[in-house]
Amino acid sequence: MDNLLNTKMMHSRDQITLIMRRIYDRALTTTSGGNISMIGENGDIWITPTGVDKGLMKPTDIVCVKADGMIVGEHKPSSEYPFHLAIYKARPDIKAIIHAHPPGLVAFSIVRKTPNTNVLPQAKFLCGEIGYASYALPGTDGLGESIAVEFLKGRSVVIMENHGTVIGGSNIADAYQKFEAIESTARSLLYANMIGKPSYLSNEQIASYAAALPAFLPEMNDTSYPMLEKEKRLEVY
Ligand SMILES: [Zn+2]
Repeated sequence: MDNLLNTKMMHSRDQITLIMRRIYDRALTTTSGGNISMIGENGDIWITPTGVDKGLMKPTDIVCVKADGMIVGEHKPSSEYPFHLAIYKARPDIKAIIHAHPPGLVAFSIVRKTPNTNVLPQAKFLCGEIGYASYALPGTDGLGESIAVEFLKGRSVVIMENHGTVIGGSNIADAYQKFEAIESTARSLLYANMIGKPSYLSNEQIASYAAALPAFLPEMNDTSYPMLEKEKRLEVY
């Protein structure tokens, strides 16, 4: 597990750029669709900009919305900034958010279903119960409210009706792992339904998988580093 994505020593703008490129390069979102943010210890929110090609995004394109509302950067923040803010307000344990339009989950969102994660124990373990936010116009406060309601129920993986998905994590690597697991499950279910009828594991079988895992995997130890130290490290290397 030591080689898992470890972004903790990187500046927020570098972490966001890395994950956005990975998502885009794997065709897990469209050129204009999707956005990523992180919230710092001081309440500053780093977020992908609006109007920049996801495939060409650079760290300097990432925008900072300061805790007092001041915007620092070369671009405007994502038009979906309101729902990112709504999630951070609803769930202080969430420090990173990924929103994307991956084909498997978009398919589920169009037929208005959530994938049943009881097919693969790691997916259920990572993603928990899947939330479902009813449709609201993108970029509106209404969409933020519809999503925040689901996060307030303790859900961190939410399907957005006729739109895509939004996922929260204790850090960006956590959010990305959940994102990958739920999209992979969605696609596996789509394929499985083409060749047969999927069989589901019981909640007891999922629980015994969770119980067999070591209590603390290295990547799950959440050490935070002050942003100032990260800036210094950037200068050093
Ligand atoms: Zn979207």
